[in-house]
Amino acid sequence: MNKKIMILNTGGTLSSVMKDNGLAPGLTAENLQKQLHMVSQGTDLSMMDLFSLDSANIFPEDWALLAEKIASLKDEYDGIVVIHGTDTMAYTSSMLSFMLQNIDIPVVITGSQLSMANPIADAMENCRCAIHMAASGIPGVYTAFNRKVMLGCRTSKVRSMSFDAFDSINCPNVAQISSLGMEINKQVVPVKSDIFHLENNFSNNVFMLKMFPGIHRSMLRSIREMGYEGLYIEAYGLGGLPFVNHDISGVLQELVEDGMTVVVGTQVRYEGSNLSVYETGQRALESGVLQAYDMTSEAAITKLMWVLGKTKDPKQIRDYFNVSLCGEVNIL
Ligand code: ASP
Repeated sequence: MNKKIMILNTGGTLSSVMKDNGLAPGLTAENLQKQLHMVSQGTDLSMMDLFSLDSANIFPEDWALLAEKIASLKDEYDGIVVIHGTDTMAYTSSMLSFMLQNIDIPVVITGSQLSMANPIADAMENCRCAIHMAASGIPGVYTAFNRKVMLGCRTSKVRSMSFDAFDSINCPNVAQISSLGMEINKQVVPVKSDIFHLENNFSNNVFMLKMFPGIHRSMLRSIREMGYEGLYIEAYGLGGLPFVNHDISGVLQELVEDGMTVVVGTQVRYEGSNLSVYETGQRALESGVLQAYDMTSEAAITKLMWVLGKTKDPKQIRDYFNVSLCGEVNIL
């Protein structure tokens, strides 16, 4: 029997057309469905328009709606594909990985660098890969792009123009399409650890900061004074932060003592952080910050939002950051 696949369209380049002010989403699910029958062999495709947004316009409330929609559809379909703009796709796929943990069908997010309306686009190929993965019967939240399937919570946009726009960061691809077909790497597939229930609460009171030589300590205090409850810092290298002439670690201690959750990772894309190696990291750890280890920044900030949407208890927050929930982190 054919697998039943639902495609949810949220917009992005894949469904864009040229308008007076530049490229903007314009193709509807109906337009897309006419094209997608070419890559839908062996599946019964249904399509639904959810949003029609350039993904720069996607905000956390949209993630909550999207997750709710997927949860409400999951029992009727064998798999769900989400068409999404590439600019914030890694944030959405990370957050969906947390909100839809333990889901029992594949949810595959895809998009493209050129519109489906363009005859030389990557759109069709990416949809083919996403539909194939959605029909695979392998549950989890994934991103499909340029003939690779990645864990949603490990994906980052690494190229702004090339078709190979996404990498799986610090984690092998889940699957690759080659002349051998779709080869699945079973070791990367997420392991279901509980029954599924939708967990789409989040905190919007989080801030993300990239460390740079010259940052003012007062900036960090201002973030807290503005009412933010969580801060994710992209620190240097293995997670180093200044403490000599400009004592950033000291300010972080004040923030943590004041009840703020501070998570420290690295601005280096590959191989992650480990704050216990250098004094610049150890001092930050002593000030009470949590480690992001090898998480992408997209996963770290969305995990922070998700965790703070579940609990405000510092001990529980720490516990959540000391485990991998859906394959987002390797804890050292
Ligand atoms: N600006 C577009 C978006 O993120 C880019 C794309 O989809 O490739 O919606």
